[in-house]
Amino acid sequence: MGTPIKTYSIEQVGDLVERAGLPTFRTGQLLGWLYEKGAASYDEMTNLPKAMREQFAIEYPIHHAVISNKQESIDGSRKYLLRFHDDVVVETVGLPSEDGRLTVCCSSQAGCAMACSFYATGRQGLTRNLCVGEIVDQVLAVQKDFGKRVTNVVVMGQGEPFANYDAVLAALRIINHQKLLNIGARHITVSTCGIIEGIERFSQEPEQFTLAVSLHAARQNIRDEIMPAMKNQRLGALRKALDSYATVTGRRFSFEYALMRGVNDGEEDLEALVDYCRRLLCHVNLIPLNEIDDSPIQPVDRSVLEDWKARLEDSGIAASVRKSRGSDIAGACGQLANISRLPAVLYL
Ligand code: SAH
Repeated sequence: MGTPIKTYSIEQVGDLVERAGLPTFRTGQLLGWLYEKGAASYDEMTNLPKAMREQFAIEYPIHHAVISNKQESIDGSRKYLLRFHDDVVVETVGLPSEDGRLTVCCSSQAGCAMACSFYATGRQGLTRNLCVGEIVDQVLAVQKDFGKRVTNVVVMGQGEPFANYDAVLAALRIINHQKLLNIGARHITVSTCGIIEGIERFSQEPEQFTLAVSLHAARQNIRDEIMPAMKNQRLGALRKALDSYATVTGRRFSFEYALMRGVNDGEEDLEALVDYCRRLLCHVNLIPLNEIDDSPIQPVDRSVLEDWKARLEDSGIAASVRKSRGSDIAGACGQLANISRLPAVLYL
């Protein structure tokens, strides 16, 4: 059994083609079949030499994701359960907006190892990392299902992207590539729970990808409680890495802060957040907490979110309240938890 072709980056596919003694233009053709046309087998790649197709089919098999379930929200967003060759499943969400944009919320891992207390995926633990093509295939599947071009990608689904850094970056390069999915780097956002080493690496990448950081608390003891895996990524060191990210890239990043009643919504929490953000090139995205099953953590009233927004803005910190979508199908932020008890209907 060979190594699946979709585990390779653009450069690595180029190396495989070169090693097979084939001319360079075959790389572009092959990548186009995989990531523009979404080919499920080498048989479809009719402009490639037969010998190459036969050799690659043995050495680098193609694994194709299938949509095993789909639910549509009253707001038009669609949540998909994607099944990979080894029966591992992840959830992906397609979010159309009135202005014609179509955003895909991608997963970077099946499950998540971070165990955040308010995050449905965190409860299942980590199943495995997704490979390059499994991340790109999520975008292709949504594009095909909506029958229209995806304009934005957010890596904010299941998993922690910086715990699967190389595959995520290689996938983003395919999504960004002009001859492949051609989605502008500024329209691609990676959301991390705050892995400092990942932020440092990300600031060195040449593309202008956007960064979002799930902060959820600017007081160390509260953050330790709700995001236990971040205990060794201290708030002070995180702030320093983000300050340097903004200096190196010249780009603003955003903080995500889901307000949880009685947990991180007090006056002290707000003051800590204001202090934390002061003189940082950041934007604060306040998130109405989406409830997850059997969790004692509750959202705050809408007025609290508006009040926090006003207070942050008064302190000179850019802030907005995230419009939550898809919560009726448990497709909103934090709710993705592989509801595999749903019947496995094939939509593709
Ligand atoms: N590991 C990454 C991406 C996965 S979390 C990260 O931590 O950012 C995906 C997004 O959902 C993040 O913005 C996270 O802060 C948010 N989120 C998690 N649980 C949530 C909940 N219950 N309600 C609202 N947003 C939540």
